[in-house]
Amino acid sequence: MTDSIKSDNFGIDRSVLESVIASAGVGILICDTEGNVRLANDAAARALTTSASTVLTSRIFDLLPLPQGAEVRAAFRHLSKTACDDEAFHEITFEIEGQTLKCVTHPIFTTGEDAGLMVTLLQNVTAETQAARAQTEFTSVIAHELRTPLTALKGSIDLVLANAGGEIGDSVRSLLSISQASCNRLIRLLDDLLDVAQAETGSLKLRMHVVSVDGFVLRAVETLRAQAESRGIRLLVRTTGEIPAVVADQDRLEQVVVNIISNALKFSPEKSRVTVNVRRSQSVVQVSVSDEGPGIRETDRANIFRKFYRLPETGSTETGRGLGLAISKAIVEQHGGRITVRNRRSHGSTFTIELPIPGEDELPRKNKQ
Ligand code: ADP
Repeated sequence: MTDSIKSDNFGIDRSVLESVIASAGVGILICDTEGNVRLANDAAARALTTSASTVLTSRIFDLLPLPQGAEVRAAFRHLSKTACDDEAFHEITFEIEGQTLKCVTHPIFTTGEDAGLMVTLLQNVTAETQAARAQTEFTSVIAHELRTPLTALKGSIDLVLANAGGEIGDSVRSLLSISQASCNRLIRLLDDLLDVAQAETGSLKLRMHVVSVDGFVLRAVETLRAQAESRGIRLLVRTTGEIPAVVADQDRLEQVVVNIISNALKFSPEKSRVTVNVRRSQSVVQVSVSDEGPGIRETDRANIFRKFYRLPETGSTETGRGLGLAISKAIVEQHGGRITVRNRRSHGSTFTIELPIPGEDELPRKNKQ
């Protein structure tokens, strides 16, 4: 038995529990709902760069850096009220003493005396994070280097097609139009790659203003209305109650809503309905887009927000590069919000964006009522 393991009787054979936990390669902390550490292994103390005795006499929130501690405290409050559900967990990644830690908390669903416990796993992901960062930087440099000559190439094609070098025949025009379309497609791909790279490194430039949510939602809807009508899909917008303004980059959020509605249209059957709902829910504004398409399996729901991920059954038939949702997630998270997806009870899926409602002190003076 290691000195760092302190265990009450959870109804599990103590020696088995202790050896599993002590030899696990990841940090393990078991806490009550108030965050008091009831059991921890050496790996947890090492990951948190503190001593085992400090871990065992602290609340988990106080062992983490300040903002993440507050977030985990809120997650504990939320998870302690959650009913038995595989999807009930909280994940956060942060830096501590030069290392990157992934911290995942799950409620332990037991009854009786042991009810109300949480297990938190701490994994050192420094190497993976550095490798991902290097890959992102590489992608970003390549995309940048390719974009410049490609833009020049497209500029020349545009000029020739506009007869700037003299009249051109129909067959040359048709060949150049194909080249122009390919250039446009490649430039869009490179722009998406640059967006993802910037979003992943947190360097996406946001022009934050106080904006009306209805405003960018309606603009996004109007951009796609003709596309919906061409397939006989009814695109509806419903606003419930008064919607507070948010502090946001409206062009970026419009891009997110366009992407989600355009996916909804892409995967919806003809003559179906796509509904956009805007409402306030406690401290957030929610924008949700519901469709009557095939829906998304539970096992795919986290993956579709990863870059280049496309579901095999939809990926082969529909155009796309699997970047839209990765960019959307990064943009929403950089606004302090979140994006989630669930299946509807009947059929189809609902994507929801939540944006925090700013406090009085976050609003510029002239915008206060
Ligand atoms: P893509 O450019 O491929 O659409 P996204 O990142 O926007 O890239 O979406 C990733 C994948 O998620 C899609 O290829 C599709 O498989 C799935 N998906 C997204 N939205 C929906 C939806 N409304 N219904 C069903 N599947 C969807």
